[in-house]
Amino acid sequence: MSVAVRFAPSPTGLLHVGNVRLALVNWLFARKAGGNFLLRLDDTDEERSKPEYAEGIERDLTWLGLTWDRFARESDRYGRYDEVAAALKAAGRLYPCYETPEELNLKRASLVSQGRPPIYDRAALRLNDADRARLESEGRKPHWRFRLEHAPVEWTDLVRGPVHFEGSALSDPVLIREDGRPLYTLTSVVDDADLAITHVIRGEDHVANTAVQIQIFQAVGGAVPVFAHLPLLTDAAGQGLSKRLGSLSVASLREEEGIEPMALASLLAKLGTSDAIEPRLTLDELVAEFEIAKVSRATPKFDPEELLRLNARILHLLPFERVAGELAALGLAEADAAFWEAVRPNLSRVAEARDWWAVTHAPVAPVADDPAFLAEAAALLPEEPWDLSTWGAWTGAVKAKTGRKGKDLFLPLRRALTGRDHGPELKNLLPLIGRSRARKRLAGETA
Ligand code: GLU
Repeated sequence: MSVAVRFAPSPTGLLHVGNVRLALVNWLFARKAGGNFLLRLDDTDEERSKPEYAEGIERDLTWLGLTWDRFARESDRYGRYDEVAAALKAAGRLYPCYETPEELNLKRASLVSQGRPPIYDRAALRLNDADRARLESEGRKPHWRFRLEHAPVEWTDLVRGPVHFEGSALSDPVLIREDGRPLYTLTSVVDDADLAITHVIRGEDHVANTAVQIQIFQAVGGAVPVFAHLPLLTDAAGQGLSKRLGSLSVASLREEEGIEPMALASLLAKLGTSDAIEPRLTLDELVAEFEIAKVSRATPKFDPEELLRLNARILHLLPFERVAGELAALGLAEADAAFWEAVRPNLSRVAEARDWWAVTHAPVAPVADDPAFLAEAAALLPEEPWDLSTWGAWTGAVKAKTGRKGKDLFLPLRRALTGRDHGPELKNLLPLIGRSRARKRLAGETA
């Protein structure tokens, strides 16, 4: 049986680091097993689902390189859900209930005040045909609950180990709304069964759903998949990420924070696992290192600063071909490998390359506060062509002529040539600046 997993976001908002981590873990699991990865849009909540969010999800996954082998959309499958619901009704596993939300709230409040768990009391199961006819004649429409077996539900979770629930400790879930619309708890099972999903890897917020859904799999005659529930990411203080979702959306990390896809993937693949977080340049490397057994039960903390540090480490390693498109999009279409290799050690974000492009290719106001020394240095500038050895040869000659060394030698040259105190190695920058600009800057001219 070949491994099949799915990532099943609801297109009701932007993907954030928490969701996309689950997409990545599913994708790595599939690739490692030689299996397939399904992208499924859980869009039965028609009020909140939006096409632009669906497009955003596809854009974000594509940007990360998480290509999908299969695609499904729940809103295409209503006919199938109706069919399954009809079969469950016929088998007596779905029963009509008529309580209003207010009535249900009262029941819950009363149970809680008695210190009892707020489990639905199955009052609707005690209605007879006449009761139902009377309620319907009052204009009430039923919603439908799944009748759970009051038996133990057990599974061996790939992250949590053996898990045990008592069916009697769970509320019969509502699977069909009053307007006839099927709810996630049902649709997800029907899809997982029909699409032969072998492993459901999702957040631990779904553990109780799993107990219920295992019984639904059994009721619809589907093979029960293997489950893995990952602890959810928190912020550095251990708080849920939900409050900061806007700033932690994949779109804002990409567009506002300048995060590289492999920085995000390198972090999210390892966060909460026994592996160290190291920069990786390809998803293949992450696939090779991936084991679901390395995922720990401890709460993983997401730290945006750690992501930015990893972004810098990735940029320091990325070859020019991997950033050429991004540089062009920044208006640096003429940037080449020599430029990239000169500046990348100083970048935490690709966009910062613009500053160094300006230093090497646009007029710079030099800081020339030691004109006599700079004039001596200018006189020693070798003729072009210049290469990576030019800086060493030139500063060697300046040192011999002036007797300066260390900071006294290098800092005035840097300040004159770049207008700044810090930056990429001058050995790399000098050939990019070129002789004509260098001479003028050493003479204190903006060039
Ligand atoms: N649409 C559900 C969610 O985003 C899917 C959960 C699942 O993986 O089953 O929470």
